Amino acid sequence: MLSNRHHFAELARAGVVRTAGAYKLVAAESVPANVPLFSLEGELTSVPTRYTVQIDESAHIDMPDGCRFEEVLDRFFWRFMNHSCEPNTVIRDREVISLTPIEPWQEITFHYATTEYSMVEPFECRCGSSRCEGLVGGYQSLSAAGRERLRPLLSNYLLSILDGETQAPQCR
Ligand SMILES: [Zn+2]
Repeated sequence: MLSNRHHFAELARAGVVRTAGAYKLVAAESVPANVPLFSLEGELTSVPTRYTVQIDESAHIDMPDGCRFEEVLDRFFWRFMNHSCEPNTVIRDREVISLTPIEPWQEITFHYATTEYSMVEPFECRCGSSRCEGLVGGYQSLSAAGRERLRPLLSNYLLSILDGETQAPQCR
């Protein structure tokens, strides 16, 4: 079961906890800034859900159907990463990279609008940050200033839209 051991080695840096009725992903060890934490394992789909992560125009990472909950926790734990307007990670393709040092038990977050063009289930953010934009509806809901502020964290796909190199998705 070498492959399993490999998963667990990778996984040692993060784990899912549930408090006050909500899941979150936390660091399992102290992590410095600018290091890869884990990669987003899963299948590509063209259909986004509230749990998928967008990496290209019609490419969203999802987990396969029929996973036992233990498998979800062991391999697809990234689904429990919550949004923050001041996140401590950024997603580059499938890699989740720390932006700041992260302490054990500290929540691991990313900014949803840095990967999602449009959120399937927009929500009102209550993170309390002075930089909070309120409604988290994906990149398309950001103000022009918000887009520029997030520029360093945007996925390649969203960056190419911001720079006018890729056309934003059209209404059908
Ligand atoms: Zn916020």
